[in-house]
Formats: sequence, C-alpha cells, structure tokens
Amino acid sequence: MSKADDMKKVWNDIVAFKKSPLYTYRVKNKYLPVIGEGDYDADILFIGEAPGKNEALTGKPFYGASGRILDELLASIKINRKTVYIANILKDRPPENRDPTPREIELYTPFLDRQIQIIEPKVIATLGRFAMTYIMKKFGLDSKLKQISEMHGKKFESKENYLDVPVLIVPLYHPAVAVYNANKKSELKKDFKILKKYF
Ligand code: URA
Repeated sequence: MSKADDMKKVWNDIVAFKKSPLYTYRVKNKYLPVIGEGDYDADILFIGEAPGKNEALTGKPFYGASGRILDELLASIKINRKTVYIANILKDRPPENRDPTPREIELYTPFLDRQIQIIEPKVIATLGRFAMTYIMKKFGLDSKLKQISEMHGKKFESKENYLDVPVLIVPLYHPAVAVYNANKKSELKKDFKILKKYF
C-alpha cells in the first residue's frame, strides 16, 4: 500500500466516524471533515488544534484568518505550504470553535497517530497548547511540559523511538494569537527562523 492509499483510508475512516459527537454537527451543517493537507513525505509536520468554519466548509486546514498568518510565517522562511504537511488534533469543527474536550482529543488522536506513522516527519511543530500537550506526552516528554510561554521555539528530542527514527518536537504559539497581536507575530517569526534550522 502506498502512502496515498494509507492516507485515503484515514480519510474514509474519518468520513464514517459516527462515533464522534461532532459527526452530527458536521452533517447538520454540511461541513466537511478536515484531515490535513500537504506532502506525505514532508520533513516537517505542523499540528494545529481543530478546524474552524472556513476549514469545515472547504475541507482544508488553516484556510481562514489563522491560515493567512501561517502562510505569512511560512513565506517568511521561504517555505511553500505544499512541501510541508499540516494537520490538526481534531478532524471536525467543534461548535463555535470552542476548545476540544478531553473525550474529543481521545477520539480523534488515533487518526493523527496514523498520519504521523505515514509521514514519518523529522520535525513535528505543534501550534498551540493542545497539540503541544498531546505530542509531548505521546513522545514520552511529559516531564518537560511547562506553559507554552516557556516552551515555544525550543526543541525537544523524542526519548521514545516511536517512529524508528528520532523526532524533534518544536512547540510554537498558535497562529491565531498573532491575528490581533503584532508582538506575538514577531515572536512567531523568530520561532519560525529557529524552526527552519531543524529540517
Ligand atoms: N485553527 C486550527 O488550529 N486549525 C485550523 O485548521 C484552523 C484554525
């Protein structure tokens, strides 16, 4: 099976994921699930939180205000969106963009785990605290977890050999924090410069 076949299977399983409490909300609003987008051989995998309205209408991750910031950040380090992979913790939009619940995280992260295994990225850049917390724990780095304000822009090497190759985890602020905050945008730009050195 090719990576594309494996990813198609992830997509099919999410489309049929009636077990999720967000499934009914998706169908009622004629939303699409958002599994992720990009190069299946990418060296870097970005992981956000959950699709918003624009994403649920288009089926693509980071296509609204946060997406414009992410594009600007990628452009600032001369990276084309097509050469990376962008995914989220949740694959369906939570009502009113509320925070993901622990149950939703538990339900959707097995899909993300499958995507990580397909892509086998060298670097995982988490966007925001939900992705940071999940990925740090997943890779056995629970003891290093602190507030995102202390962790952003730093690199953490995975202790667990989860993918047969070492993985670098780089927590970053979520691009949404920069929509109305120029200081946060310059911090994100600095962190992206650091990130570029790792892949
Ligand atoms: N915020 C996210 O975390 N993910 C998206 O896809 C869009 C906005």
